[in-house]
Amino acid sequence: MDNLFDRVAERRRQQFEQLTHSRFDVLVIGGGITGSGVAWQLARWGLRIALIEQSDYASGTSSRSSKMIHGGFRYLPHGEIRLVRQVSRERTRLRALMPHLISPLPMTIPAYQGGPFSLGTLSFGSWLYDHLSHIDRQFAHQRLSPQDVQARTPGITGENLAGGIAYYEFGGHDARINWAVVKTAEQLGALTVNYVRANLKESRLIPDGPSHVAVEDLFSGGTGIVEARLVVNAAGPWADLLDPEARLVRSRGIHLVFLRERFPLSYATILPTPENANIFAVPRGPITYLGTTDYPDHGAVDSPDLPLSDAQYLLNVANRLFPQAALKLQDIIAAWSGVRPLVAQDAGQKTDRLSRRDLIVAKPSMVTVLGGKFTGFRATGESVARTVLGRLGGIGTLPAREAIWGAPAAETLERLKQRTMDAFNGAGHWTDVMVQRYGALTPEWLRWAKQTGSDGLEPVSDGIPWLKAEIDWAVLREQALSLADVLIRRSGIAWLGGLSPERLKEVAQRTADRMRLLLDWSPEERDRQMALFYRTAYVDDVERFRQTL
Ligand SMILES: Cc1cc2nc3c(=O)[nH]c(=O)nc-3n(C[C@H](O)[C@H](O)[C@H](O)COP(=O)(O)OP(=O)(O)OC[C@H]3O[C@@H](n4cnc5c(N)ncnc54)[C@H](O)[C@@H]3O)c2cc1C
Repeated sequence: MDNLFDRVAERRRQQFEQLTHSRFDVLVIGGGITGSGVAWQLARWGLRIALIEQSDYASGTSSRSSKMIHGGFRYLPHGEIRLVRQVSRERTRLRALMPHLISPLPMTIPAYQGGPFSLGTLSFGSWLYDHLSHIDRQFAHQRLSPQDVQARTPGITGENLAGGIAYYEFGGHDARINWAVVKTAEQLGALTVNYVRANLKESRLIPDGPSHVAVEDLFSGGTGIVEARLVVNAAGPWADLLDPEARLVRSRGIHLVFLRERFPLSYATILPTPENANIFAVPRGPITYLGTTDYPDHGAVDSPDLPLSDAQYLLNVANRLFPQAALKLQDIIAAWSGVRPLVAQDAGQKTDRLSRRDLIVAKPSMVTVLGGKFTGFRATGESVARTVLGRLGGIGTLPAREAIWGAPAAETLERLKQRTMDAFNGAGHWTDVMVQRYGALTPEWLRWAKQTGSDGLEPVSDGIPWLKAEIDWAVLREQALSLADVLIRRSGIAWLGGLSPERLKEVAQRTADRMRLLLDWSPEERDRQMALFYRTAYVDDVERFRQTL
């Protein structure tokens, strides 16, 4: 397989050469969902765009979210009507744009006497939410009796239960959505490169351009200069490192993962707390995950902390509401932590009260975009594109139609699943996972898998929906370069796969052995990758939790 490594190295060499020897209209820094959305929206206008990401796409906050495409029901009591209206409508739009990646997520909110909200207030809020969202009737809210709530959420305490609300949000795999948006921008002509860092201290940003931005290729160690008329800073929680005037506050949110059989929910549930924190439990395939905390984070933004105290707090909330579950630290099989980039408002305001709105700060040489929600990325990208077009003036044709790379039309999704099912001898779960990952490209992926050798369609480890050929595809077709890229972001197997830490380690070893051949890793590099993955995926932290008495 050694010529495959040459292929990867050559692809990267060409990308870096193009990046440092072309003139761009806009250089977008940051390949999270915000930067990718900006690159997509700008590329629709026919502008020459470069998107660079210092690590992997979505490796920052955009793979560490609660994986909900939601309208922000909980922001209504804060009077955030405009934000809720905009973001809730985006849900429907995004679902239509990528039906393979985004699916309906039925939710339950139980209401308790003496709880933070009465059933009447929740009913009114849900009515308003439906109204603002223009949501399809089938997704409209319903009021639930205490018995209905208990039927939907087995094991929930019935003490003082007044009833509840059923409503809908949407869910998806954040990092795969991010990747689909990167590919969409690329298809429209943008140059998109990961593992390239911008160093603004060494750059010359010229008002009204062209600016010269110093960049480093972290894969080859090469350095160069990117010339662009305008720079967009979409560096999320790193934004103030690029623009010291950016008023940013970071807040940490962690999620804990349990096997579904250990925390058996059928519906996503909001867990009321006396302090009205935003805690919920989401069932998804083999797991239920519980999140999220919202604490100021002053730690290292490159690897957000996962403190034991955060985990204990979440367990206490869950056990108060689901006493029979009696969840323990030993039940946690996976976890992740992320940092919200929030726009600073009044001094001393608690982070869970800070608005999730975005803020676009346009200076003559750089446009900085701050805050926002994952769900709002398309609209944020559109607003930034308008600002950029105004600044550059007189360029851009009519924008290309909005369509996401690899998205099948909603009506062909079932047909696609049926065709894929044949390849997996009727295994429905695998079909769903594959179609979710590859969408309309699934047939092409299957052809590829068959060509990679007789074992391409075999799972990396018995029974898990992560196939050997997917490793090759991730490296050769999806710009993955590290173990964390493939196991956390391209496949989702690390956090969403329902594997115990021991099993995940075995899968990681096997994946690393295949990647070693593809990427020409030395034995030392393979070991370094493994150690890095255990740290990045919080495998070490979870093992520590499980050993805590
Ligand atoms: C715990 C938690 C749960 C959340 N849940 C939800 C949810 O369910 N739904 C929802 O809609 N929103 C949710 N959010 C919010 C959402 O995840 C974020 O708003 C969104 O992901 C931010 O994306 P971003 O692109 O701005 O930042 P990031 O994803 O962090 O991207 C910024 C990127 O810039 C790169 N970068 C930084 N500096 C440089 C440089 N010098 N050169 C090159 N690249 C650079 C970084 O490596 C990073 O990848 C949640 C957030 C958190 C923390």
